[in-house]
Amino acid sequence: MASKSSESAQTPEKPQNNVLVMGAGLVGLAIALRLALAGIVVHVVEKEERLGEEPRAVAYYASALIALKKMGVIPDMEKAGFVSEGFAGGCYAMGDVIARLPIPRDMKESNGVGGVLYLPQPELTKLLFEKATATGLVTVHFEETLTKLSKMLGYQEAAGYSPEKDTAGQRN
Ligand SMILES: Cc1cc2nc3c(=O)[nH]c(=O)nc-3n(C[C@H](O)[C@H](O)[C@H](O)COP(=O)(O)OP(=O)(O)OC[C@H]3O[C@@H](n4cnc5c(N)ncnc54)[C@H](O)[C@@H]3O)c2cc1C
Repeated sequence: MASKSSESAQTPEKPQNNVLVMGAGLVGLAIALRLALAGIVVHVVEKEERLGEEPRAVAYYASALIALKKMGVIPDMEKAGFVSEGFAGGCYAMGDVIARLPIPRDMKESNGVGGVLYLPQPELTKLLFEKATATGLVTVHFEETLTKLSKMLGYQEAAGYSPEKDTAGQRN
């Protein structure tokens, strides 16, 4: 009986459609967008005051492109960036190409995507943010740090979104 009552305490009466995502980076926003496209309400908690602007990723390959295609963002990415069919590595001083790595844009072999799509990470982050929030189902809470999730949270709080805030303003 004890396990039944603790089970019912953790199980919402009806299935909840709210999801809490930690971090408004590429992955958090991509997940938020996918969930929103499935009709799910998402709250994203981001500890910084704005989206990340660090120049990290720039090139996206088949595995990422297949996931991004499911979110319908490839046409916008192509508009803002560009697609190539591989790499050429060379000697900068001599100007010689010393190696080539072809990554053909074989749409059949790679689920309708292919090649390498180039777009700076901050631009893709912004694009995903805009697409996600435009659904009306995604809210990004800036300057909030998720520090703890109670084991008994059981979604009753997620329904209204209440992660513990980092009141000390720590960045961790
Ligand atoms: C130099 C470099 C080059 C790269 N090049 C490529 C590339 O060409 N192609 C490619 O596909 N990938 C590349 N990557 C990898 C790519 O950058 C990462 O895979 C990607 O950033 C991961 O996204 P993420 O959302 O998981 O993490 P992040 O982008 O790091 O986002 C995490 C977010 O969570 C927030 N956060 C963290 N803790 C908390 C908390 N407790 N509460 C609230 N918010 C929190 C952070 O502030 C941040 O905004 C590169 C990485 C580096 C470092």
